[in-house]
Amino acid sequence: MTFDSLGLSSNTLKAVTDAGYTEPTPIQSQAIPIVLQGRDVLGCAQTGTGKTASFTLPMIEILSSGRARARMPRSLILTPTRELATQIADNFQIYGKYHKLSMALLIGGVSMTDQQRALDRGVDVLIATPGRILDLFERGSILLTGVKVLVIDEADRMLDMGFIPDVERIVSLLSPIRQTLMFSATMPPEIRRLADKFLSSPKEITVAPPASPAETVTQALATVKPIDKREALRALLRSEPVENALIFCNRKKDVDVLDRSLRKHGFSAAALHGDMSQPARTETLEAFKAGKVTLLVATDVAGRGLDIQGLSHVFNFDVPIHAEDYVHRIGRTGRAGRPGRAFMLATPADGKYLSAINKLIGREIPTVTVDAVAAAEVDDAPKARKRTRSTKANKAETAEKPTTAAKTSRRRSSSKAKASETKAPAKPSRSRNAKSEPANSDGPVVGMGDHVPAFMLKPFSEAG
Ligand code: AMP
Repeated sequence: MTFDSLGLSSNTLKAVTDAGYTEPTPIQSQAIPIVLQGRDVLGCAQTGTGKTASFTLPMIEILSSGRARARMPRSLILTPTRELATQIADNFQIYGKYHKLSMALLIGGVSMTDQQRALDRGVDVLIATPGRILDLFERGSILLTGVKVLVIDEADRMLDMGFIPDVERIVSLLSPIRQTLMFSATMPPEIRRLADKFLSSPKEITVAPPASPAETVTQALATVKPIDKREALRALLRSEPVENALIFCNRKKDVDVLDRSLRKHGFSAAALHGDMSQPARTETLEAFKAGKVTLLVATDVAGRGLDIQGLSHVFNFDVPIHAEDYVHRIGRTGRAGRPGRAFMLATPADGKYLSAINKLIGREIPTVTVDAVAAAEVDDAPKARKRTRSTKANKAETAEKPTTAAKTSRRRSSSKAKASETKAPAKPSRSRNAKSEPANSDGPVVGMGDHVPAFMLKPFSEAG
C-alpha cells in the first residue's frame, strides 16, 4: 500500500514524501479514503499509530477549497492537552506546507489577545483544548456554527481529565451538518455513548496499539558492515545470556541462510517463515516453546501471529523497513515486568529506517560496538575475499572464518588474516562451542577462551 492510492492531492503527497514517509500506517490507509468521502470515523487508535496524519492529511484536502471567515473557524480539533494540540499544529504545518491554510492554536498559557487576533483574521483549522475555547466563546470572540469538520482526539483522556461536559457543550454549539472524527485509545462505555451521540453512521477503525517499547526492554544498536552481520550476531549471541530469542530478518531467504549459518556454527536454531508448511511451522514452534531450540529465526509476517512472549532476547538481524515492526519485534521480550534485551544490527545504509524508528519510539536507541567484530580491519580486505563472501551463503560462511569472539587474537593476527583471507576458505569449524573457532583461515587454531581442555583443569599432581 502506498500513499498514492489513498486519494490525496499531489501537493499533500509531496509533503508526505518530504516528511520521509514511504508507506501509510494501518490507521492512515483505512481512515484517509473514508474521511475524504466525507464520512464520520470512530478510530480506536493511540499515539504512535500515525493517527494524527490519518485525520490531518484528508482535512488538508477537504479544507483546501473555500475560505475562512472572521471568527468562524472551518474546522475544529479538540484535544485534552496543550502538548497534543501543539503536536497536531506541527503536523498541520508539515503536511500542509504546500497549501495555504490558516491555523490557530487555542490553548492555555498563550496570550488570549494573540489568539483573538488570529481568530479575527479567520482560520481554516482551529486546534483547541476545551476550556480555552469555551472561554473565548463566552467572550463572543468565536462562532462555531461554521465548523464543517470536527475532530475529537484522545477522547478517553478527555474523559479521564473530566472534560466531557465541556466537550458536550462545545459540540452542542456546532452545526449538526458536519463531519465528525473521533479518536480514542480505548472504548469504555462512556466513550461509546459519546460516539453514538456525536457521530453519524461512523466507519469504525481499530488498529493495534503500537506497543510502546516496554520499559523493561534494554535496547541496543550496533552498526556493522553488511558482510559482518552474521559474525556480529554470533558475537552477541555468545556474549549475551541468551535463554531463548527470536531473530528477525526482513526477507525469507535470509531467514534460511541465517538459520543454516547459525546451526553450522553450533547454535541451536530453527527457521520460521511463510513458505513453510503448516505442520512444519507447528513443529518448529513447539520445539521452540518447549526449549528444545533456543533461537528462532523469523520474518515479521511469520513472527506476528505467534503467541511467543517473554523471551530473554530479540535480535533484529535487519533493521525493519517499517518502524512499527521494530516495536512489534522487541515487544516479544521484557513482557510483564520481566527484563528483556533487544539488539539490532544496522548497516550504514539503514540510516533512513533508523531515523523512522527513533522517531516512532521517541528516542535514540543506544549504540554499542560489537567488540569482537573488528569491522575496521575488514575495510581494506582484498577484493578476492569480498568476492568469496558474496557468493552463495553457505560458501560465504566458510570464508567467514576470522573469529568474532576473540578480539585479542583477531588483533594479533589481523594482518595475517587479511593476507590469508584471500586464500581458499578454511574448513568449517566442527566445534560445538563457537568460541573455539579458528582465528583465521590458516587452519584450526584452538583458542583457550572458555574452552579449557579437561586435562588442564585437573589438579597438578593428577595431571602429572
Ligand atoms: P502519531 O500516532 O500521529 O502520534 O504519530 C506517531 C509518529 O509516527 C509521529 O512521529 C509521526 O511523524 C510518525 N508517522 C506518522 N505517519 C507515518 C508514516 N506513514 N510513516 C512513518 N512515520 C509516520
